[in-house]
Amino acid sequence: MSYFSFVKTELKNLFSKPATRPYPQQPRKYAERTRGHIENNMDVCILCGLCSKKCPTGAITVDRTGKTWSISRFSCIQCGYCVESCPKKCLSMKQTYTQPDAEKKTDTFVKPEQPAPAAQPAKPAADAAKQA
Ligand code: SF4
Ligand code: SF4
Repeated sequence: MSYFSFVKTELKNLFSKPATRPYPQQPRKYAERTRGHIENNMDVCILCGLCSKKCPTGAITVDRTGKTWSISRFSCIQCGYCVESCPKKCLSMKQTYTQPDAEKKTDTFVKPEQPAPAAQPAKPAADAAKQA
């Protein structure tokens, strides 16, 4: 590379915008159909376990006793098969990627407690006698 060519390249680099984005200060713009990570709306999930059975990498664990739904973030390959197979449509593919980490991590979602059904009012004694 000649000296003038070198200077020209240096000056061009000096006054042009950087090719990279300052991460994480400048948020990334995702394409509309980006496959980032799976989220579960636990208000709707019935813990049926179908998503776990369909997942090709075994990334999902459903614990009916403990009322939890877990996903191993670094085992998930974002295929979206669980989203398609969920009968309650409570799974969704979000655009943002899982944050980098030093260890494999599992996210656990807990089913919120359902409020107990309201107690039925007691029947009047006369009605109860008629029915007997
Ligand atoms: S298939 Fe849907 S409803 Fe069933 S456990 Fe998975 S997320 Fe919940
Ligand atoms: S997106 Fe694919 S790999 Fe990830 S949890 Fe769902 S079925 Fe499994």
